[in-house]
Amino acid sequence: MTDAGLVLEGVSAAYRDARVLHRLDLEVHRGELLVVLGPSGAGKSTLLRLVAGLHPVAEGRVLIQGRDVTTLRPGRRNVSMVFQSYALFPHLTALDNITFGLEVRDVSRAAARERARAAAASVGCAHLLDRRPGQLSGGERQRVALARALVREPDLFLFDEPLSNLDPELRVETRGELKALHARLGVTSVHVTHDQTEALVLADRIAVLRDGRLEQLGTPDEIWRSPATVFVARFVGSPAMNLVPAGGPVAPEGMPEALGPERLLGFRPEAVRLDPTGSGAPATVERVDVVGEDAHAYLRLADHLIVARVPASARPAPGDPAEVAVRWADVHVFDAGTGQRVPL
Ligand code: ADP
Ligand code: MG
Repeated sequence: MTDAGLVLEGVSAAYRDARVLHRLDLEVHRGELLVVLGPSGAGKSTLLRLVAGLHPVAEGRVLIQGRDVTTLRPGRRNVSMVFQSYALFPHLTALDNITFGLEVRDVSRAAARERARAAAASVGCAHLLDRRPGQLSGGERQRVALARALVREPDLFLFDEPLSNLDPELRVETRGELKALHARLGVTSVHVTHDQTEALVLADRIAVLRDGRLEQLGTPDEIWRSPATVFVARFVGSPAMNLVPAGGPVAPEGMPEALGPERLLGFRPEAVRLDPTGSGAPATVERVDVVGEDAHAYLRLADHLIVARVPASARPAPGDPAEVAVRWADVHVFDAGTGQRVPL
């Protein structure tokens, strides 16, 4: 018996005949913030709903702090979920939204309100308690939804893309607050997002989900430095990692042995050097995107387009000839057929 915060054991889920999660095994440590990262349709929301008891488990088991909750109804799991849509009752004040259902759980009305005020204060919405959702901005609604999750003092927090409806500045600010809140409370949390930056910033560990299967589980550092598959390599990082067949247009400096086209060479835009000493691969600058201090230069090498991240002050111009060099130490090698990382 494990006392992990959350364990999924061979868990599958389906909508009618369509399977969307395939025998998933996953263990979230107690107190850990695990981010489930994946594109739209990967099964992230279904995964959370299944843990919350809002979607049936087709096979396998769900354990929260060692307790098998697979067949328990949502109210008995001691889990709080925060939704992308906030899911507040429009006719109730923020205060009543936060305390809703608490009194049922043997908490007196006065005690419930006291707890609600404390929770609201901890996420900066204590001054909004008399308002209805319609009188709140998106960011304020999200704070109320957070307070509602907090007040339940759950064993497990589930966050389903809670930041994606916020505008960019507020998203970054709220992201930082969520991280601080987690550090303070230490409650096991599963946070779902399609945003790789959010995952890298927030997570103790990241689970990359693709088509209902776990593609990789690791710390942000591991996911970044040793992506297990081409999918992870391309999904994490912006602009995405370059991939070219070995033996093709780019010959990395210091490559110990010649590799054939059954291998793919991956290298991030920041690993591409445009000032080599005459031994680089000839290319033509096709397009340059300037993003503040950075420039992304898109380079044509025969059939391949690769992207280099260079200082905006040293950017080439479209149409310029260029020479491209990459160090072997910066190269990731993948199997072209399976997409799996090849250990070196
Ligand atoms: P994500 O949250 O990662 O975008 P979801 O868990 O919402 O993914 O969806 C996973 C898959 O299940 C998708 O293919 C989606 O179309 C399908 N799906 C989601 N909800 C339903 C539903 N209510 N009925 C049928 N299929 C659904
Ligand atoms: Mg979703």
